[in-house]
Amino acid sequence: MHKIVFATNNVHKMAEVSDILCSEIKLLSLKDIGCFEELPETQNTIEANALQKARYVYEKFGLDCFADDTGLEVEILNGAPGVYSARYAGEDCISENNIQKLLLELDGETNRNACFKTVAALILDGNEYLFNGRINGKILAEKHGSDGFGYDSIFLPDGYDQSFAQMGMDLKNKISHRALAMKSLSNYLNQR
Ligand code: IMP
Repeated sequence: MHKIVFATNNVHKMAEVSDILCSEIKLLSLKDIGCFEELPETQNTIEANALQKARYVYEKFGLDCFADDTGLEVEILNGAPGVYSARYAGEDCISENNIQKLLLELDGETNRNACFKTVAALILDGNEYLFNGRINGKILAEKHGSDGFGYDSIFLPDGYDQSFAQMGMDLKNKISHRALAMKSLSNYLNQR
């Protein structure tokens, strides 16, 4: 059985991905391989951050692995917060601070187009592969719904009438940026 490390400490992401990988692939968590440190994420693009995390695990543990990184890009803000989505309102901020800052920046703004982008970086036998996932939508004027995390309550995906935080995680996890990136990665792994 092919073992592969998913370089994340997020149990939700882990469950999401094990669901779509075929049964010949055994997914290992960072905990499973004895990696308890914070992975470095110091680059200024989501591609480079995803690669940085995957390379860290590959170089330190010598195991096939993949990592993901996500950003919310708002059109009128020239792609901000983008790679800085987690700390848009400051280094130690929480999601609520990020949401309030974004709502303030867009106050009175009619162009509310935005997208979530995920890059998944895979390293197999030292070879690197990137997979992308993207979903377009709008930033709502106020929060709607209480499920999910991050910017879910203010993101309305195109073609739906509920925010990510209202639609239920089953649906969100089928259509989201991360699900799309992980599906292409899984398709690649499943077909090898
Ligand atoms: P990460 O790279 O997956 O940790 O994502 C970086 C930041 O983007 C998170 O801290 C969240 O603020 C935001 N984010 C990522 N994915 C989502 C999502 O699915 N919904 C809402 N916000 C997200």
